[in-house]
Amino acid sequence: MTQRSIIVVGAGAGGLVAAGRAAELGAHVLVLEKMGEAGKKILVSGKERCNLTNTAPLDQFLRYYGRNGQFLRNAYQRFFREELLALLTRLGVETQVERGGRVFPTSGRAVDVRDALLRYATGGRADIRYHAAVQTLAVREGAMAGVTLVNGDFLGADAVILATGGASWPDTGSTGDGFRMAQEVGHTIVPLRPALVPLTVKERGLAKILQGVSLRNVTCAFYVSKEGSKEKVLPMPYPLPPTGEMLFTHFGVSGPLILTAALGVVDALRAGQRVTLSIDLKPGMTVEEVRSRLQREFEEYAHRQLPTLLRGWLPQTLAEALAGLSGVASERPVHTLRAAEREGLVRLLKDFRWEITGALPLAAAMVTAGGVALKEVDPVSFASRKVAGLYLVGETLDLAADTGGFNLQAAFTGGYLAGQHAAGG
Ligand SMILES: Cc1cc2nc3c(=O)[nH]c(=O)nc-3n(C[C@H](O)[C@H](O)[C@H](O)COP(=O)(O)OP(=O)(O)OC[C@H]3O[C@@H](n4cnc5c(N)ncnc54)[C@H](O)[C@@H]3O)c2cc1C
Repeated sequence: MTQRSIIVVGAGAGGLVAAGRAAELGAHVLVLEKMGEAGKKILVSGKERCNLTNTAPLDQFLRYYGRNGQFLRNAYQRFFREELLALLTRLGVETQVERGGRVFPTSGRAVDVRDALLRYATGGRADIRYHAAVQTLAVREGAMAGVTLVNGDFLGADAVILATGGASWPDTGSTGDGFRMAQEVGHTIVPLRPALVPLTVKERGLAKILQGVSLRNVTCAFYVSKEGSKEKVLPMPYPLPPTGEMLFTHFGVSGPLILTAALGVVDALRAGQRVTLSIDLKPGMTVEEVRSRLQREFEEYAHRQLPTLLRGWLPQTLAEALAGLSGVASERPVHTLRAAEREGLVRLLKDFRWEITGALPLAAAMVTAGGVALKEVDPVSFASRKVAGLYLVGETLDLAADTGGFNLQAAFTGGYLAGQHAAGG
């Protein structure tokens, strides 16, 4: 059999694994990377510690990709976490499991994962060319013929694996080129949206006052409504834990609960809905329990002022802000509060409302939602159903998952199977 020649576009998470797998199966592999080094996004992943997968069982794992998760079922039956961890062990990377089933390299260094995958690619004799930005995919008679670089050079190949990533964090090299290139050869691109992204609020002044305040053990719920209609609970893109962490920023809200919910919010706003965030600051207590504890404390500490009393409930800045929002003059002792004022406080503690106006741009998002339509890609080989010899992996696809190691696992799995099939394995 003649040796297959494969070009991998992008030396990121998916591209390095694709190159390694194709090369170990004997293909002649050339990786083209536009940056000066490989895997810049791997280096920043998991706060530079690289959360590379998760221990959740398969069915649960798939839920973290939202409605597109089922696309990965077949692939994960072939190359999943165990296979990934075995590969990394073979390459000298030991891993450990942390909170929430998140798997990290034991060294705590993302660079060790990047270097190991680079060894996998180059040890399998893939060549890597840096500062080599691909401009277009070359198709002849419905099949891949190679690629053209930005400098005009044409490089021929039997197969091309497009692993150019998304359009977030462009400084890492992923500037969305793959979406344009795939579209040019006939693929549909599902609109790109930021996912795992902080949200902006209408109440900017209040957000500025609260910026830096981080809350643990709170519940966040999002409500949507259209002009004049009754509000409904916004379904979440990924499973949202019952309680968790969030924080205020100068423009709005961020932190784990917010990032997980963000894609749902972005999509609702795009659909013209009004979105409000309700924070339950005391999810461990019912409304009635909050009401009676407040009542008790108003009697016990009758001469305290409200901001002082609320400091027993909340971080100081938030206590002061909530006291201000309640409209109760700060010099009034709490025993003077009327029933309606007490009810207002109960509402602020259990249903602290914010109007969401938008999200930070795609460049600031952790992942890009949208991309090459999944129905145009074979879920076992990651081969294009539009162009013979083209494979699409990683964030180039219409796949975006929650935090927890799911995005990298999808890129690694896609890369491995695309590399294998492109090499004819
Ligand atoms: C701050 C941050 C933290 C993250 N942390 C985690 C985490 O802990 N766990 C997790 O699972 N996910 C995490 N992610 C997401 C994860 O890193 C990505 O989903 C994953 O890297 C996508 O892999 P990929 O191979 O598709 O693309 P990438 O890893 O982005 O690689 C794409 C490569 O293609 C190159 N390229 C692009 N265009 C061209 C071109 N025209 N020619 C040649 N080369 C090109 C780029 O330079 C880049 O090297 C994080 C993302 C960010 C931004």
